[in-house]
Amino acid sequence: KNPIHIVGGGLAGSEAAWQAAQAGVPVVLHEMRPVRGTDAHKTDSLAELVCSNSFRSDDAENNAVGLLHAEMRLAGSLIMSAGDAHQVPAGGALAVDRDGFSEAVTKRLEAHPLITIQREEMPGLPPAEWDQAIIATGPLTAPSLAQSIAEATGADALAFFDAIAPIVHFDTIDMNICWFQSRYDKVGPGGTGKDYINCPMDKDQYLAFVQALVDGQKTEFKQWEGTPYFDGCLPIEIMAERGVETLRYGPMKPMGLTNQHNPTVKAYAVVQLRQDNALGTLYNMVGFQTKLKHAEQVRIFRTIPGLENADFARLGGLHRNTYINSPTLLDASLQLKSRPGLRFAGQITGCEGYVESAAIGLLAGRFAAAERLGHAPSLPPLTTAFGALLNHITGGHIVSDDEPGKRSFQPMNVNFGLFPPVEAPKTEGKRLRGKDKTVAKRHAITSRARADCREWLGLPAQ
Ligand code: FAD
Repeated sequence: KNPIHIVGGGLAGSEAAWQAAQAGVPVVLHEMRPVRGTDAHKTDSLAELVCSNSFRSDDAENNAVGLLHAEMRLAGSLIMSAGDAHQVPAGGALAVDRDGFSEAVTKRLEAHPLITIQREEMPGLPPAEWDQAIIATGPLTAPSLAQSIAEATGADALAFFDAIAPIVHFDTIDMNICWFQSRYDKVGPGGTGKDYINCPMDKDQYLAFVQALVDGQKTEFKQWEGTPYFDGCLPIEIMAERGVETLRYGPMKPMGLTNQHNPTVKAYAVVQLRQDNALGTLYNMVGFQTKLKHAEQVRIFRTIPGLENADFARLGGLHRNTYINSPTLLDASLQLKSRPGLRFAGQITGCEGYVESAAIGLLAGRFAAAERLGHAPSLPPLTTAFGALLNHITGGHIVSDDEPGKRSFQPMNVNFGLFPPVEAPKTEGKRLRGKDKTVAKRHAITSRARADCREWLGLPAQ
């Protein structure tokens, strides 16, 4: 059989190589280190962890990334088995001895009879004769390959920085204070005129909010990250520093909006949230990309009327990050629509984090191997963590209805907002409330996911 070529031996490429080889398909893994380094990697090992040594929560019942761990273990993940073997104490989290972990991954890939590892930089897209290939070159993809990807996908389809606005779970927004309305009730393609959630502020609230943004603690950029601000994506606190009225004439302008709970009183400023996933479970704070420290974001953004109890699926940030506009470019099995047989995997597809990147590598490896063996790739159900994360990447994105064509795709960790909602189970016929309801819903989502994942993998039910 012709091999599958995998470019990049990070978290995603290593897992993809393992999965394809375990399915009986030969693999050539092309990794540029040590021939060429990146600004963050320090070793020659495959699957190097560039920063923290944590795979985050290992709680498969109450936490979405813990659930993803469990599903990956069921699917025979190399990254999870090496992580489990090199675990260090970290409470409920799975943290690993970084050197032991990466060495274990490297050794097991080197020892696999179907895997060849070539230490070389791929300067451009894989040649056409590689009919099955996976690009898994990560957030720090080498510049000449990044250039080729940009040329093949279009100038706007590859980002080099993410400017992330916080995302809020819809069911934690107080709709007794906020209301649905698009500015001037504008109805765009697929829109209803009620596509935004609006949070009203009076003058005192606005002035205090602007001051809090200016005073809030910010994260500093690492030197190599350069100056990432680009047009239309200034951090909210930088806008606040430019003058007290800047936000009121920018993302917080109150024009064209009428408070349904109090129609006679005009809001002095308005924070808008836009639907972020097709399920309608997540909303992003429009224009609120920020470098504020995470704890500061929670503290300051919870002073916004209606967001006092907001639960954030993701907080804002700005990072160096190479990623493609996957919902437009990739099909459901991670294939480039314009070049079938060429897949993307890992953080370059717009997921975030070690575990998520490895999970998408796992799927890409399985999909490519299935095709090489003459089968159609089997997609994980949307109810699993695999399926929910894959759907975040390849579909389900809302494009703003009054700004046609504007990207709404931003990298994200796996979280419960990506799953189809469940009804909270009742106890003795009574509806649950508050924290009990949240816990019951999480349990319902995770047990459904584990059962559906077993079925997808052809494993006996438990
Ligand atoms: P990587 O693991 O980066 O692997 C990509 C591989 O491709 C690398 O080995 C690289 O050398 C190789 N490569 C690149 N270009 C080429 C080429 N042209 N030819 C051949 N090989 C190539 N995530 C967390 O979960 N926790 C954190 O604390 C964390 N901190 C981070 C800090 C920084 C500074 C950065 C940049 C990222 C951080 N991340 C963190 C994100 C994390 O790095 C990624 O989620 C994860 O490593 C992505 O896996 P990947 O396989 O997609 O990419």
